[in-house]
Amino acid sequence: MINLEKLVRDNIKRLSPYSTARDEYSGDIGIYLDANESPYDNGINRYPDPYQRELKSVIARLKGIKSENLFIGNGSDEPIDLLYRIFCEPRRDNVVMIAPTYGMYRVAAAINDVEIREVALRSDFSLDASAVLTACDSSTKIVFLCSPNNPTGNTLDRGEIMRIVENFEGIVVIDEAYIDFSSHSSFSELISQHANIVVLQTMSKAWGMAGVRLGLAIANSRVIEILTKVKYPYNISTIVQKCVLEALNESITDQVREVVSQREILYKALFTMPQVKQVFVSDANFLLVRVDNPITIYNRLLEQRIIVRNRSSVPGCEGCLRITVGTPAENERVIETLLSL
Ligand SMILES: *Cc1c(COP(=O)(O)O)cnc(C)c1O
Repeated sequence: MINLEKLVRDNIKRLSPYSTARDEYSGDIGIYLDANESPYDNGINRYPDPYQRELKSVIARLKGIKSENLFIGNGSDEPIDLLYRIFCEPRRDNVVMIAPTYGMYRVAAAINDVEIREVALRSDFSLDASAVLTACDSSTKIVFLCSPNNPTGNTLDRGEIMRIVENFEGIVVIDEAYIDFSSHSSFSELISQHANIVVLQTMSKAWGMAGVRLGLAIANSRVIEILTKVKYPYNISTIVQKCVLEALNESITDQVREVVSQREILYKALFTMPQVKQVFVSDANFLLVRVDNPITIYNRLLEQRIIVRNRSSVPGCEGCLRITVGTPAENERVIETLLSL
């Protein structure tokens, strides 16, 4: 077991969080004259539940975890930034991340003035746990892993991830933004055995709610407690809490199934195209495709008003475009357009 308390910055350990009116009294019915709100009911005149209790209980049930192991943030961006602020002393500590990977870990490091160390994935985008562990030193507080990884789409080897979890004495973030498109199981089932695992998930992809900005962190209850202490008191608005609660009544199974089957159709079509050099196997809702002339192909798609992500300047992704799986009709358009080039 790692020593969580030793990892937390001293100022955060000392912090007594802002106490809201609803911290002092939280009943249901009553005359609320404690928060200087407007008394005129318009559905949003009251402050939201700072602890998102109802939403948490629904999401926790859905994920097969306890509410005490769940943090809800304003997108995944919020827990990513909070983890830096909680664990990393600016200009002294460092974090290790894989490359290529999601850009937000790097941006949040720059904002928090924390050094990053990048460890390249192998040429097939597999994870080298030894290389990650070698990059860590006594000032490394967080290792960022992303699985399935963005922009490569592959799932990182479970055994390699576990070698890092078991041998690194800091926080291991496992970003599972695309887990719903994958047949692999979540690392959230391991949080009770490993206090250093922080799993990130999001409502932005499979759940179809990128617009509401809701990200999840699943971890040891002490980590959740500290995240909750450091967050803005009312980080999730009443409107968002209500909207997500309602949306969670609808199943996404059929949509996810269609995206996954469309991914395979798109994969096969791209695979046989002469201008395509390589299509990487993906467990996510996108495909990374290596082509002969990425800029030309990007522009030709753009002429047809098909916008994909040009990743060809990212080290490790030379020549690559990242194509999100769309509706069957949209994917058909992509295939037709590429075939006509
Ligand atoms: C899209 C994505 C997210 C989601 O971020 P939100 O802020 O929750 O929208 C998180 N991690 C990765 C790797 C992503 O690709």
